[in-house]
Amino acid sequence: MSSTEPTVILRMSVRSTVFYLDGPLASEARFLLEDFRLATNGAIRAGLQARLTSRNALCKLAYKDFREEHYNMFAQHLVSAFGVAAGILKNHRRRLKRLRTEQAVRPPYVKRLMMKAENQAYRLDRKEGIIDLPIRAGLHVKLKLVVSQYHRCYLDDEAYSLGSLTLLPYKVIIAFRRETPKLYAPKSVLSLDTNERSLDGVFLRKGSSVAVRAEFPDVAIIQQRHHDRRRKLQKKKANDRRSARALCKREGKREHNRVEYRLHEVANVVLSFAESQVSAIVLEDLTGIRHKKGKDMNRRLSMWPRRELHRIIEYKAEERGIPIVKVDPRYSSRKCPICGSIQHSRMGTEFECKCGWHMDRHINASVNLLQTAVSKGLEVAGGLRFDPGAFRHDAMMILYEPAMAARSEPNGMSEDGVVGP
Ligand SMILES: [Zn+2]
Repeated sequence: MSSTEPTVILRMSVRSTVFYLDGPLASEARFLLEDFRLATNGAIRAGLQARLTSRNALCKLAYKDFREEHYNMFAQHLVSAFGVAAGILKNHRRRLKRLRTEQAVRPPYVKRLMMKAENQAYRLDRKEGIIDLPIRAGLHVKLKLVVSQYHRCYLDDEAYSLGSLTLLPYKVIIAFRRETPKLYAPKSVLSLDTNERSLDGVFLRKGSSVAVRAEFPDVAIIQQRHHDRRRKLQKKKANDRRSARALCKREGKREHNRVEYRLHEVANVVLSFAESQVSAIVLEDLTGIRHKKGKDMNRRLSMWPRRELHRIIEYKAEERGIPIVKVDPRYSSRKCPICGSIQHSRMGTEFECKCGWHMDRHINASVNLLQTAVSKGLEVAGGLRFDPGAFRHDAMMILYEPAMAARSEPNGMSEDGVVGP
């Protein structure tokens, strides 16, 4: 692209979707998986020796030798193996940098069978759900996919183009790409503080502000219940570690599906509200927040559901053109938004300041997030200012609560990737 042309930036959203294979994997495809793993591990070794981490550099360095060694492999798959190796090498280098001691980390290698193909290297019959994967010149295998209604949304929608394909022994992951709509210019702001059992926040538009809440207490309850169950299982199967592990894994999967289902519901409701009010959404940036180690505390305060909720809100917002602003949450739970003083302890459900300001602790945090976002340049049509005098915090607007979940709960045994709309 020449620099004189105006560049149009297409924002693409990518949805990775899991399909199970209908029937066992053809033996040719299995050989391909093994060959791919060999090539990837070979490329990793070559990259480590030559201290290279880019796909192109690896290709230049080793393509010829590899071509001879893996003469049976479709050329594009070989290039793709270099790509996978490059990704692994980059991660490895990042890890080394963080540790600063080279001995502590074992050289990386790929253990499980997998292969990746870019979209030029395979065909998908979207109507029939059949993948045509070339193995080598003159030899292709067909992979029949199990297609559910959920998958149909992607297969039948022309707006989704095909991205890369990841093949595993019994499933494939297809990346569907779609151009995302332009973000709208917000007319109001929904600032949300993310907690273990709820999103608490403030909805601010010109002239008024109101406290809002979306409650999901069952997420913590589900986590607790499954934690207890796992613990019991481990005790019961103390002499049989293998079956204990298998049962725990199943428990974990159920827990994951149940939690995921609720998080999707919460996210949908919050986003529909934001969309109807033409709101920007302010969230705290949770990356880098870690909790103190400690057996029970660590699990109880598991950050995963909160991060997952953010992930869901973010990608759904992107698909709907809703702007999201993420801000540093430092001091958000201890700062007074009126006078700016910072308190030492954050105990209690109520935030109280010497200046007279008092507020629900979580709502107070969201007001701070909002102010940080505004100070970092979040602009809203007509301009906005948080006016504590006009803040109606006596009346809470409930965006979501479990009773609203009219649909029956899933049994937790649904397939991967079928969670949520
Ligand atoms: Zn104060």
